Amino acid sequence: MAKVKVAWFDFCCCEGCQIEMTNFGEPFLKLLDHVEPVEFREAMSEKTTERINVSFIEGSFSREADRKRLEEIRERSDLVVAYGACAVTGGVNALKNRFDMDDYKECVYGADKDMPHLDTQEAKPVSAAIKVDYEIPGCPISRDEFIRVVTQLVHGTTKVYTPSYPVCVECKLRETVCRYADGDHCLGPIAKAGCGAPCPADGIPCEACRGLVDEPNEESMVKVLQERGGLPERWAKEKSMMFTANQRGDAK
Ligand code: SF4
Ligand code: SF4
Ligand code: SF4
Repeated sequence: MAKVKVAWFDFCCCEGCQIEMTNFGEPFLKLLDHVEPVEFREAMSEKTTERINVSFIEGSFSREADRKRLEEIRERSDLVVAYGACAVTGGVNALKNRFDMDDYKECVYGADKDMPHLDTQEAKPVSAAIKVDYEIPGCPISRDEFIRVVTQLVHGTTKVYTPSYPVCVECKLRETVCRYADGDHCLGPIAKAGCGAPCPADGIPCEACRGLVDEPNEESMVKVLQERGGLPERWAKEKSMMFTANQRGDAK
């Protein structure tokens, strides 16, 4: 059977998800028995203009100039998978959507802010520009989920499962002591699961890097962050924004 041709493309992001993949080790190498990478900037210098079976897109859609490249990738791909928080929700980049564009451009680029190559716009998910077939959330993505999704796609699966319940469920299943019991805070009750809750297990609060559950009770979360997590009101309100600025109830 011919190998599945796969390619990785990056847009507005830190490319941390691609780099993370180069650390996936043996399970990733085993995938190479079934897939043939034809473009992968962090791991090979070859590029392709040929038809691609599965294109993985990392990074947010943050400038109109990228639309054409995204459309061209869509055009010659059988399947498009957006992976990583930046590509799935706009991720950390979407924080800028809450500020005046001139202000943040000046803050970052100073006197150069109006140069044409520094053009920017609101950070949006890849799905705001083109049709996306599957999404793999997380910052960075999890190895096991990536391997599972690719394996399913190679076998022709048409629906990839992503849990809709909160991280607390997975946290309780692994019997982790709740961060709140340690006087800490955590966004697990409104964060989308699927990662296996590694952060609380390592003594770190969940920051909802996989995005929010479908119907997050943000109001109650703010109360819990204040009353149980000891955060001042403003911090409690802004806490869940780092990875979910585009998903919050007050998002534009
Ligand atoms: S999701 Fe996180 S690790 Fe991946 S590219 Fe975006 S910022 Fe980097
Ligand atoms: S540590 Fe976080 S994810 Fe785990 S049960 Fe407590 S609130 Fe939920
Ligand atoms: S526990 Fe929370 S922050 Fe950690 S990987 Fe899962 S969703 Fe992301």
